[in-house]
Amino acid sequence: MHELSMADAIVKTAVDVAEKNEAQQITEVTIEIGELTLLNPEQLKFMIDVLSENTLLEGAEIKIELIPIELVCESCNYEGQRGQDELDHYVPIVKCPKCGEGAIKIIKGRECNVKTIKIEKEDEDA
Ligand SMILES: [Zn+2]
Repeated sequence: MHELSMADAIVKTAVDVAEKNEAQQITEVTIEIGELTLLNPEQLKFMIDVLSENTLLEGAEIKIELIPIELVCESCNYEGQRGQDELDHYVPIVKCPKCGEGAIKIIKGRECNVKTIKIEKEDEDA
């Protein structure tokens, strides 16, 4: 399942960063998800919770930021978000909202990154 492998990668990234920084605990993780990934944020969050059991990530607050699709049109040079299309918002293969051509490049919307991680250290110098 899509969400499971992403959740696994996110947990590993977060734990890895925390270990390198000698953290005792991760308190908060912010994740960016592009609209084009079609990931279900609730499901992703749930799986991160499950996978973070017995790791430094356990109990951390998981924040998810959705990144809307942005595109550039090679026909008319339109640049920006895709047009609203209530009919097929599950088919994000988009056309240019300005000229209707399909010669577009997606510049945003494929992200699935750990954006920020907040950690707690025990022996922090004041
Ligand atoms: Zn166009």
